[in-house]
Amino acid sequence: MRAAVLRNTGDDRLDIVDDIAVLDPGPGEVTVKIEATGVCHSDLSGMSGLIPQPAPAVLGHEGAGIVSAVGDGVTSVAEGDHVIIAWSPPCGVCVNCTGRHSPHLCTEIQFGKSFLPRFTQSGTPVFGFAGAGTFCEATTLPAEAAIRIDDDVPFEIASLIGCGVTTGVGAAINTAQVRPGSSVVVFGCGGVGIAAIQGARIAGAAEIVAVDLQDKKLGQALALGATHACKPDELDALKGELTRGGFDYAFEAIGLPVTIRAAYDAVRRGGTACIVGVGSADQEVSFNAFEIFFAEKTFKGSYYGSADVRSDFALLIRLWKAGKLDLEGMITRRIGIEDVNDALADMRAGEGIRSVISF
Ligand SMILES: [Zn+2]
Ligand SMILES: [Zn+2]
Repeated sequence: MRAAVLRNTGDDRLDIVDDIAVLDPGPGEVTVKIEATGVCHSDLSGMSGLIPQPAPAVLGHEGAGIVSAVGDGVTSVAEGDHVIIAWSPPCGVCVNCTGRHSPHLCTEIQFGKSFLPRFTQSGTPVFGFAGAGTFCEATTLPAEAAIRIDDDVPFEIASLIGCGVTTGVGAAINTAQVRPGSSVVVFGCGGVGIAAIQGARIAGAAEIVAVDLQDKKLGQALALGATHACKPDELDALKGELTRGGFDYAFEAIGLPVTIRAAYDAVRRGGTACIVGVGSADQEVSFNAFEIFFAEKTFKGSYYGSADVRSDFALLIRLWKAGKLDLEGMITRRIGIEDVNDALADMRAGEGIRSVISF
């Protein structure tokens, strides 16, 4: 099968191959024929090692397709079902999945069953990135990672929900729980930032300010729900004009100490700064000991949009069907697997929102 493989952590290109074999599904597993997969910024982070990933690995983690085989004991999906792949699915039984109602924080599958090789190439075991490995014509996963959807949803639309859209919209509606009439600022207008802007719009925010270095991205943000857009050095003036003392909510979708700190500074006393970007474990952000007490801000991380994929994927599809979530507008390039390195280069250059690969 055709696939895009990361040979070694630190490589800046993926190897496009046609001789990958996907393992048959074992008990509790399914094989999914991948129809479409988005190219997400976290794929770059997996390549660089910022997100730990054993190699060789089939990259890709934002995908949708059709169940082509099921292992023993699988009852949640059947052959022929259309599914979105969840890269961190809930096991359904641990303390996060039950007592604390945080199924997105369940690690039983993502750091357990999913961390095994899923493919082989000339007898060598090959992993799937983040337990998914969607840059291949098919992948084998724990059945919990295949979330059934209606047959009438186009696969390229469904694929986006597998990561970026759930992460960004979920940050606004689940993690921060943006209230109607509030003011919001979003740092970083890639796929996740644009999804957070749409989430804030859906939640009824009155002002949504998009912040990015690139004019083109600011234009895209305005087209998809932002009410204002500016460069980082223009934000203070806009904050003074639009708010009294700061925004109610800030979302950071970059993962850098400077923008994480800027998100904290942008919100008013009592406001919420929500960090969605994936930063490096080697970098630190500092706060002085007085401001934390005095400003009484809520500073929180957001993992996979604090979503319960079992119900939230369907909710996002309903918002899309109702015309409230623009997913077509987020696809800036449609490509084949052979062009994935171009899509990765675009993303490094800050070009476009989402490239989607169709097989
Ligand atoms: Zn669990
Ligand atoms: Zn992603």
